[in-house]
Amino acid sequence: MDSPGKPEVIVQGISASQGIAHGQIFVFIQSNVEVPNYQVEPAKRGAEVARFDQALVTTRQQIAKIKGEVEKNLGPEEALIFDAHLLVLEDQALIGETIRECEATGRNIETCFNQISQRYIQAFSEIDDEYLRERAGDLRDVAQRVLQNLLGQAENSLARFAERRIIVANDVFPSDSASIDRSGALALVTDSGSRTSHAVIMARSMKVPAVVGVHDLTSRATNGDWAIVDGYDGLVILNPSETTLFRYGKIQERKKTFETRLLNANSQPAVTLDGVAVSLLANIERVGELKAVEDYRAEGIGLFRTEYLFLNSARIPTEQEQFLAYKTVVETLAPRPVVIRSLDLGGDKPMLGHPHLFPKEDNPFMGFRAIRFCLVHTDIFKDQLRAILLASAHGKVRLMYPMISGAEELAKANALLAECKAELQARGQAFDAALEVGAMIEIPSAAVTADLLARDCAFFSIGTNDLIQYLLAIDRVNDRIAHLYEPTHPAVLRTLQHIVAEAHRGGIPVSVCGEMAGDPMYAPLLLGLGVDALSMSPASLPAVKYLVRAMTLADAKALAAEALALASPKEIFARCEAFYRARVSTE
Ligand code: PEP
Ligand code: MG
Repeated sequence: MDSPGKPEVIVQGISASQGIAHGQIFVFIQSNVEVPNYQVEPAKRGAEVARFDQALVTTRQQIAKIKGEVEKNLGPEEALIFDAHLLVLEDQALIGETIRECEATGRNIETCFNQISQRYIQAFSEIDDEYLRERAGDLRDVAQRVLQNLLGQAENSLARFAERRIIVANDVFPSDSASIDRSGALALVTDSGSRTSHAVIMARSMKVPAVVGVHDLTSRATNGDWAIVDGYDGLVILNPSETTLFRYGKIQERKKTFETRLLNANSQPAVTLDGVAVSLLANIERVGELKAVEDYRAEGIGLFRTEYLFLNSARIPTEQEQFLAYKTVVETLAPRPVVIRSLDLGGDKPMLGHPHLFPKEDNPFMGFRAIRFCLVHTDIFKDQLRAILLASAHGKVRLMYPMISGAEELAKANALLAECKAELQARGQAFDAALEVGAMIEIPSAAVTADLLARDCAFFSIGTNDLIQYLLAIDRVNDRIAHLYEPTHPAVLRTLQHIVAEAHRGGIPVSVCGEMAGDPMYAPLLLGLGVDALSMSPASLPAVKYLVRAMTLADAKALAAEALALASPKEIFARCEAFYRARVSTE
């Protein structure tokens, strides 16, 4: 089933949603609707306005329908974006100005609406505020729909496939991605975009393979071309040869059998062949993930990213609302431990709709985020600390501060925690007086001063996602330098070794909760370096547990010692890969 006469082309992108798909391509170019421009007689201007009203009604119905479908298929959170779209249709400034422009100039309503909406889009996209800039995207999306309806054009083409297709798009607007239904899309490939774009999040939640950052693939591929999308390695193979197809057929079969094997073995304890128990924990962002935590048998929660409670809400959640969410998690897990991380808002996670709290920054990753934000907005921070303390009366809670850069910051956070404890005591409310407090080690200065921090921490958790970005000066979301983001860089290994040594010298345990922990290629290296626990997304637990059960800790230590003596990140990675392949056969 190749595209006859066309040579095979392999394009490397960034893996965004796992899985393999084979099928024909549908090239989707997001382009602006062509708008005719003509004069309307004064007597017919009323009819122009009526046409406009009708187009607004039709657009509203279409968006409400998409919203309903998304809500049903993906849940209410994913459907929230369409509320913003519906609001655009109620914007009296936009509607009023369009009508006034039509009445004043006598130009057709499409021309007037296009002019006014373009002006708004331009104004929004120039504003120094991420939230408002995103509203420009909503407006652009809705304006295209209104124009299509005014011009009687068909609804967006992504919704009409007779057969399933691999969608190759330059970009995907939120309402387009919503109309891609699982029965229509085999895979999603985008020229631009990052792993966190809305379309990709949708693809992941629908378990559709996705690859992003393939630059100019839309201009190289043609409708109907055959292709393979490899969401594991971030590859798109155009016009695959018979040999490639055969290879991928085998890979796909193997992946399925292997995944079944992992799940079947997942009820076994995480103990190495030389009898050492390894603590495997889960990272969660929402209360809704508790089912996955139980299904994949986590021994506890090593990282609860509480900022998502805030990011998924239009306003700052109250102490009581937060308490209820934390309590649900803590009670479900009890007696297993739950590490609740205080707010890590800001950086790439600003809270939308609160530009006064999160002003635009040139270097958001080095800016006003996490503990820095909390130590300024102490009212928000203290509400959260009290909510966490209250939840600690319902199970085993540990508190962890993100982005700690040194001992003073830790002391300031702890002073606020002491105030919160006193306030709860005064209120006569129960909490765990012995609540353990730890720090994330994810800034190089914290790693270097780990000995000082260990004095005032009950545990460390290493955030390798950020630690690597700051240590190597590689923006973790910039796809142009993604190849330089190397977890096996000797600087990373030496820093990890130092943190573990200082933690243990100070008598406290240390875990890793960055993405490295959930990757079976790196897990043995981390354990060999002396890390006590690994915390990862729930779905990664079976693969890591399988490997833990197939190795000895003695071998992992030998791997770490060998890796520490090497200079090349690639060579260190090759050793890690060889370690994995020698113990786990995916055949
Ligand atoms: C990390 O930085 O490794 C981490 C776990 O935190 P986040 O990914 O939320 O920044
Ligand atoms: Mg981090």
